[in-house]
Amino acid sequence: METLKLIGQNAEKLLHEIPDEVTLLAAAKTRTPEEVRAAWEAGIRCFGHNYVQEAQAMLPQLDFRAEWHMIGHLQRNKADLAVSLFDLVETVDSARLARALEKYCAQQEKSLPVFIEVNSGCEENKDGALPEAVDDLAAIIGTLPHLKLQGLMTMGPLTGDAELSRPYFKTTREIFDRIKKENPELRWLSMGMSHSYKVAVDEGANLVRIGTALFGPRK
Ligand SMILES: *Cc1c(COP(=O)(O)O)cnc(C)c1O
Repeated sequence: METLKLIGQNAEKLLHEIPDEVTLLAAAKTRTPEEVRAAWEAGIRCFGHNYVQEAQAMLPQLDFRAEWHMIGHLQRNKADLAVSLFDLVETVDSARLARALEKYCAQQEKSLPVFIEVNSGCEENKDGALPEAVDDLAAIIGTLPHLKLQGLMTMGPLTGDAELSRPYFKTTREIFDRIKKENPELRWLSMGMSHSYKVAVDEGANLVRIGTALFGPRK
């Protein structure tokens, strides 16, 4: 099928272009299991879903084992299911959500790597912890025995000139450098999407989340 071939070509191009030390995460929202499989066959090993239900529907249909990240806003009433489905949650943005994840990790006897999502533009109605709240949230996560704080994630503007994203990425990188001293396991900086990943890598991202440039435009 033509689409699947194109995904393979896009994946190869992206993997070639992105520096070796940067992990390419395929943002799989709205895609089919066949499309995700094409990305896997081209060498992508890390995938993300935005919705717990979408992951719940897709993961059992896959005949390969990839690393799955939760990259969308997570509601506390979905935390139980998220713990059972995902290998890592990139979008922890409150102490209440962290504590809910801790509770279900304890019940399921699982250890869960997490990132803090940073609202790096301090925008109203945007998910993510405000920059000034990140230190306290990191300290709280540090007290939860089943959660491992391993990184920071930020969204930035969804479209537009990539240069508009740069200040958001810079802010997130500064927070990363600041809290790294207290959080020695911190090593991932997840920022950049199809239109902005080059600028993100330039600003220190070592995990980029790509949908459109890999799978094509969403319907
Ligand atoms: C969809 C999505 C992406 C990828 O966006 P594209 O512009 O399609 O590359 C990255 N991160 C998150 C959280 C997303 O929801």
